[in-house]
Amino acid sequence: MSDRLIYLPLGGAGEIGMNTYVYGYGPEGKERLIVVDLGVTFPDMESSPGVDLIMADAAWLEANVNRIDAIFLTHGHEDHIGAMAHLWPKLKAPVYARRFTAHLVQLKMEEAGLPSDMIRIVEPRPKAVEIGPFTVQFVPVSHSIPESSALVIDTPAGRVVHTGDFKLDGNPVVGEAFDPLEWHEIAHEGAGIKALICDSTNVFTQTAGRSESTLVSPLKDLISEQKGMVVATTFASNVARLKTLAEAGREAGRSVCLLGRAMRKMVHVAEETGVLKNFPNVLSPEDAVEVGRDNLMLIVTGSQGERRAATAQLSRGKYLGFEMKDGDTFLFSSKTIPGNERSVIRIMNALSEMGVDVVDDKGGLYHVSGHANRPDLEAVHDLLRPQMLIPMHGEHRHLREHAKIAAAKGIATEVATNGTMIDLTGVVPKVVEYIETGRHYLDGTVLIGALDGVVRERIRMALNGHVLITVIIDEDDVPLGDAWVEVMGLPERGKSGGDMVRIVEDELSAFLESAPDKVVRNDDKLDEALRRIARQVAMEEVGKKPEVTVVVSRLMAE
Ligand SMILES: [Zn+2]
Repeated sequence: MSDRLIYLPLGGAGEIGMNTYVYGYGPEGKERLIVVDLGVTFPDMESSPGVDLIMADAAWLEANVNRIDAIFLTHGHEDHIGAMAHLWPKLKAPVYARRFTAHLVQLKMEEAGLPSDMIRIVEPRPKAVEIGPFTVQFVPVSHSIPESSALVIDTPAGRVVHTGDFKLDGNPVVGEAFDPLEWHEIAHEGAGIKALICDSTNVFTQTAGRSESTLVSPLKDLISEQKGMVVATTFASNVARLKTLAEAGREAGRSVCLLGRAMRKMVHVAEETGVLKNFPNVLSPEDAVEVGRDNLMLIVTGSQGERRAATAQLSRGKYLGFEMKDGDTFLFSSKTIPGNERSVIRIMNALSEMGVDVVDDKGGLYHVSGHANRPDLEAVHDLLRPQMLIPMHGEHRHLREHAKIAAAKGIATEVATNGTMIDLTGVVPKVVEYIETGRHYLDGTVLIGALDGVVRERIRMALNGHVLITVIIDEDDVPLGDAWVEVMGLPERGKSGGDMVRIVEDELSAFLESAPDKVVRNDDKLDEALRRIARQVAMEEVGKKPEVTVVVSRLMAE
């Protein structure tokens, strides 16, 4: 059997988040494997209430754990490294990352009480990691976090480029620029690029992307014009933006304070790893409270409306001694990720009620994206001239659109969603297998399958309330006393105006008095009958069919 080169997305293809990709080389079914990124995505109240984190189902990886040679991490965003503490213990392969990313992962592992000595720090190309049939180089690309990298993966079947998250930015303020000359070289070494696995996030944005550096002067102008306290929020990991904001504050004669653990951690790691230099001096929150509000600027976490983050706390009132007032300014130097709009708008309105002027990204004046827009993607296609292109990092509509663009240029392409195994060995990509994939939820401290029913039940209880029924059956299979009912999450009184609990109890007791012996003797039948009555009564009284738990206690003859 001849060797083949395969690509298999397990997360991130057909959604934005929980990036998890696999490459393999070798005889069919025995390929040596590398994993690229182990990310998470975030739950929402509507589909995953109470869930803490969402990550790819790693069952296929676990089943093939002996074939996994290494895990490569492209950059430090949570949707690329967030599952490390949960999935690495199942895979236990060596982990390769650049210094800044490695540092963030190390902290994550240590917080979870896990080892971190399997993390190997890799210098960028021309340095390379040789492992199994793969030679992997990290190539710096610009993005919205320092040290983001594309991977150049050389195999006996040819060269694959996995872009990771990237944008074309020649002047990203912090970190490395996108270097077209280096990429030209990568495209022209040897037989060129066989397959480009490419970020699709901004494929629908028709205008060319803008550099992080274009924000410097608008942000400085904005902040210097304000009276009162200025508060700005952005993604904690966007170290370049934090620097621009802090410098703008200092230039406007303000003392600057960072609020939020995530933000202080990012700046600390960026300074420690040498990525960030000359960050303006900042005050601790304790010292900043003493500064007059006209001379103060806070940079805070919570741009996505996260309930416990500083932005939400400030919108609810006093936080760590700080309070927003009439005449203050609150800047969202960020984009609201789809799904978070309601939380963010709620915060904006709460701030508005306090008399605070809320400024958002103003159509790009105060925020730029970290992903390549359509013209930039096309420029990269033309620069790299791959034999085939597989879109990744996007919802289905993004992948499909990106594939269309590739096809129009005569590049062989395939829409590969999570679980689609693609053979890249030939001249065109070929779907060879569908792997069962899905999502796993971190629910409290336990990992559960998204389809296990736990969250489905939780949603049902949330929507319809819950009824608990207890009955006691004596030694002679005769109900002892009345049924006893408790309700949760349902109104006390329904349409009839009577007490809900009493009405359900009366109906159940009436049924028990005349219930046939064969029903009373059989747990399943009794359970079913009582459940049906409770749901029926609730439907008549309050128009809802609640979840019902029936507890039958049988007294045993001595
Ligand atoms: Zn990213």
